[in-house]
Amino acid sequence: MSSDGRKRVLVIGGGFGGLFCARALGGANVDVTLLDRAAGHVFQPLLYQCATGILSIGQISRSLREELVHHRNVTTLLGEAVELDAEARRVTAMRPDNTQFSVDYDVLVVAVGMQQSYFGREEFAQWAPGMKTLDDALSIRQRLFCAFEIAETLPPGPERDSFLTFAVCGGGPTGVELAGQIREMATRTLANEFHSIEPEDARVLLFDGGDRLLKSFAPAMAGKAARILQELGVELHLGVHVTDVRRDGVTVTPKSGGAAEEYATRTVLWTAGVEAVPFARTVAEVLGVSADHAGRIAVAPDLSVPGHPEIFVIGDLVGRDNLPGVAENAMQGGLHVAASVRRDLKGEARRNFRYRDLGSAAYISHGHALLQAGPIKLTGYLGWLGWGFIHIAFLTGLQNRFSTVGTWLSAIARARRTDRTFILGSAASKEPYTW
Ligand SMILES: Cc1cc2nc3c(=O)[nH]c(=O)nc-3n(C[C@H](O)[C@H](O)[C@H](O)COP(=O)(O)OP(=O)(O)OC[C@H]3O[C@@H](n4cnc5c(N)ncnc54)[C@H](O)[C@@H]3O)c2cc1C
Repeated sequence: MSSDGRKRVLVIGGGFGGLFCARALGGANVDVTLLDRAAGHVFQPLLYQCATGILSIGQISRSLREELVHHRNVTTLLGEAVELDAEARRVTAMRPDNTQFSVDYDVLVVAVGMQQSYFGREEFAQWAPGMKTLDDALSIRQRLFCAFEIAETLPPGPERDSFLTFAVCGGGPTGVELAGQIREMATRTLANEFHSIEPEDARVLLFDGGDRLLKSFAPAMAGKAARILQELGVELHLGVHVTDVRRDGVTVTPKSGGAAEEYATRTVLWTAGVEAVPFARTVAEVLGVSADHAGRIAVAPDLSVPGHPEIFVIGDLVGRDNLPGVAENAMQGGLHVAASVRRDLKGEARRNFRYRDLGSAAYISHGHALLQAGPIKLTGYLGWLGWGFIHIAFLTGLQNRFSTVGTWLSAIARARRTDRTFILGSAASKEPYTW
């Protein structure tokens, strides 16, 4: 308890789950601390638009401190949770300068999400960035635009071709969005800007192990998405595993056996899988709870950890009822746990979490998106409008919403991308990107 006898709620992670939980506890008779290793909430569904130069990182993120400033009982702290002492009810966190501090809690909400998984081939990450953070988006933006710039300076031949070949691994919504956007960049934005190369000739290869793209969508919708991508010039390679990623290419092996194929490329993007972040694995280990192969934690029906009613897990990390790794599940989980904390204060019984599936959407290309919500299945322009409406509705911050709509309208009218600036090193890692 804090000195004035109020319960201390520690929420770790300021993504969709953690932010919705902390906001919903605003004004409650508890002291809330929101701890995140980044200082801002990131709207991950639009990361690919930052990566491809449509939106700026400022338009899809918002300072957590600013977002929560009006909730006087909520404090935000910058730090990465690294240790959990469940007996002492204390979490140790690392500051950006690698020094440590600790935060005590009465109620703990673990909302740290997932990270990209390379299925045990961590060495791929050096050549194939994933797409989970603002750093990733900026790294991809640099690689994409730089590849065209480098190609412009090379004589015609295999090396130049490899800079104009882009491999996207993973045919879920993020892979589809990225592949479509790279072709749109090449054919709409960059088409008339170069003298030596023809950006329209850029090859975009999309690899997936399944027999179709977008498995979370109805087969007919996914089929339509595949046709649109192919019309745009994306080369689909289904039923294959990417078995090697190197500085200058990828190896792809058919799932059904047969000869592996090599593709020369200098840009590989990885969206193929996710796994729990390291702190989530620490939580499961310390509490002795089971987790699935990706590290999702098994929780009780009210989202608390079995044997630890004071610890909740929400969002992508929940390993129960095959809940989907989508923003809506995290937001609903955050609201549910906040309601449970308020019920505990009033001495009322907790309720079980019930996820309400409100549907999903995926962007394919200019004028084409999929929107699936119960019996409603929209594609083409209608899907595109619905997709835009949903994304604006959930973007954090009024200013971000207005500026994003403005940027989209300008991009539609003039086929321009206004955020093409990239740096030639990673400020965060203090190392240059590797090529
Ligand atoms: C590229 C992309 C596109 C997507 N598109 C869609 C979409 O169109 N529709 C949809 O519904 N969903 C989409 N999703 C999924 C959706 O973004 C996630 O389901 C959602 O973000 C999960 O919320 P969360 O709160 O569980 O985790 P996250 O939103 O991932 O938040 C986790 C937070 O925890 C922080 N954190 C991690 N480790 C620590 C630590 N040790 N200490 C402190 N802080 C930590 C992170 O900084 C982050 O802020 C997309 C995801 C990605 C990556």
